[in-house]
Amino acid sequence: MLTLPDFNITNKWILDQRGTKNAVDPNKPYAFLVEKERQANGKIEDVTTIFLTNKECPFRCLMCDLWKNTTDDTIDVGAIPKQIEFALKNLPSTKHIKLYNSGNFFDSTAIPLKDHNAIASLLHGFETVLVENHPKLTDRRILEFRDKLNTDLQLAIGLETTHPEVLPKLNKQMSLMDFSKSVNMLKTHDILCRAFILLRPPFLSEEEGVEWAKKSIDFAFDCGVECCAVIPTRSGNGALNILETNGLFHSPNLASLEHVQEYGISLDKGRVFADLWDLEHFSECTDCLDQRKVRMDEMNLKQEILDPIFCSCSD
Ligand code: SF4
Ligand SMILES: [Zn+2]
Repeated sequence: MLTLPDFNITNKWILDQRGTKNAVDPNKPYAFLVEKERQANGKIEDVTTIFLTNKECPFRCLMCDLWKNTTDDTIDVGAIPKQIEFALKNLPSTKHIKLYNSGNFFDSTAIPLKDHNAIASLLHGFETVLVENHPKLTDRRILEFRDKLNTDLQLAIGLETTHPEVLPKLNKQMSLMDFSKSVNMLKTHDILCRAFILLRPPFLSEEEGVEWAKKSIDFAFDCGVECCAVIPTRSGNGALNILETNGLFHSPNLASLEHVQEYGISLDKGRVFADLWDLEHFSECTDCLDQRKVRMDEMNLKQEILDPIFCSCSD
């Protein structure tokens, strides 16, 4: 593990490294799309994802760049339902929906509680609804929202890493026990959980990054999650750029993501997805990038290990 004694990672230090936010409109989601995803029942179906615009997350995780598309203040009651309506009007209809809010759905400074009824009404008819949340915000409000929805609510929770020294440095304000208790509570109430796992967070070498991503997948499944999504760690949020300059962070390479995806799928314990967004950032070879992307995408959908791609870059 790589360390430098003079890096004291605090909320203030992380905030001080930030650049400026993007301009966002509180009445519009900052993005929305439909893409195919394999469901827990094995079917490959279209899923709507809406990236809601709301107040930034009160946690200050070291690797997070989601604050870039947020507001400084809580937005008006009624704005989140308006955003959902807007996206749904502009997208084909699907059976599944994810609401990603650059933070935690059950943070009432981001998604006002007064909006829960209207949001639930807009989502009637979807077979599954996925929202993201922090373990420290796992409480009865989740069950109350699920009852309002009257459909299959699923939760995505950032586990990030089980590395005992790196997790506290990520400033996530969460222990492995917090994660495990949340998943357990949600499972008791038949709410499926998906874990977000970082591939090569700061302070780890490439090999350690792979090893701990695999250990983190093992831990997440042992806790009872139904799905793991592996996210290669990217710089660009300010704090990671500084760590990168000081040799404490380096993005993982594409081969590591392929390896961890294969490992996770081979366990056959639940769905394992590799996050393929901005994949070119992790590849140094333009000859095989497209083929590798197609293979990994197909592996996400089929949950099978496909034949590897051969290229001179990996000989
Ligand atoms: S809890 Fe999630 S959204 Fe909030 S700072 Fe951490 S990673 Fe970002
Ligand atoms: Zn290549």
